[in-house]
Amino acid sequence: MDPAGRFAPSPSGELHAGNLRTALLAWLFARSSGRRFLLRVEDLDRARSGAEDAQLRDLAAIGLTWDGPVVRQTDRESLYAAAIDRLTAAGLTYECFCTRREIQEAPSAPHAPQGAYPGTCRNLEEAEREARRALRPAAIRLRAAVTEGTIRDRLLGSFTGVVDDFVLRRADGVTAYNLAVVVDDGEQGIDQVVRGDDLLPSTPRQAYLAGLLNIPVPEYAHVPLVLNADGARLAKRDGAVTLSDLAAAGVTADRVRDLLLASLGLPPGPLGNALAAFDPASLPREPWVWTGMTDA
Ligand code: GLU
Repeated sequence: MDPAGRFAPSPSGELHAGNLRTALLAWLFARSSGRRFLLRVEDLDRARSGAEDAQLRDLAAIGLTWDGPVVRQTDRESLYAAAIDRLTAAGLTYECFCTRREIQEAPSAPHAPQGAYPGTCRNLEEAEREARRALRPAAIRLRAAVTEGTIRDRLLGSFTGVVDDFVLRRADGVTAYNLAVVVDDGEQGIDQVVRGDDLLPSTPRQAYLAGLLNIPVPEYAHVPLVLNADGARLAKRDGAVTLSDLAAAGVTADRVRDLLLASLGLPPGPLGNALAAFDPASLPREPWVWTGMTDA
């Protein structure tokens, strides 16, 4: 399969300037390295009606092009189930009956890193499991053989983070993001993952899981998030931050594209110019602060 990069938005609402900038970066990384560029709608959770169409429209409006059909995670449950079955057959999963509160209140295991699952359900006897099944549905967790992992990032270098017995399928039956993302990237031939650096902490978990499923670990590039004037992560409440809000204020998609390109030190205009000038080594490494746009 030809190598590919991707953008994988959750259809929870319209994309804002920060999301668009990350998409633009993912496109530049993929296209400048001769990769296909794929779009995947991560709609297992948080899908809002109409959001997917609006997101695709806005990505096209800033000039992004993609290859092949857009895939949707809700159409791919059988792939996720097959992966969980394989892990289960290899003895690498277990049922977990903990509520969020029980996890928060559980004493953490000795030497367990902060934020790691405390292991409450890891070694239950079959009779205990049987009793708990009668009380509530189980989540499925990975039985990890390590407590941390190290990944390499194109922009950030080496990063070491927690690998715990993370959830593969939630108790409500929904496939967990960390499982779906690994299965999808593997199945779609994605060997380059460019995304916001808020996802960096999950990456060692994903790379570890990829190894267990014989999926090659992709190249990662985690890009800085866009911040608002107060230094917090840009959000919808920060005023006109989506293309439709900006259009209502008289700002065209071309101007937004050019501002995003300028924030990356790249030339304005149709994306061919930026593509020719793109060099990952000279990207700004600091978060970019969104100060708003008006037609003035
Ligand atoms: N769907 C995730 C999000 O919108 C991104 C997942 C990824 O790029 O791996 O935050």
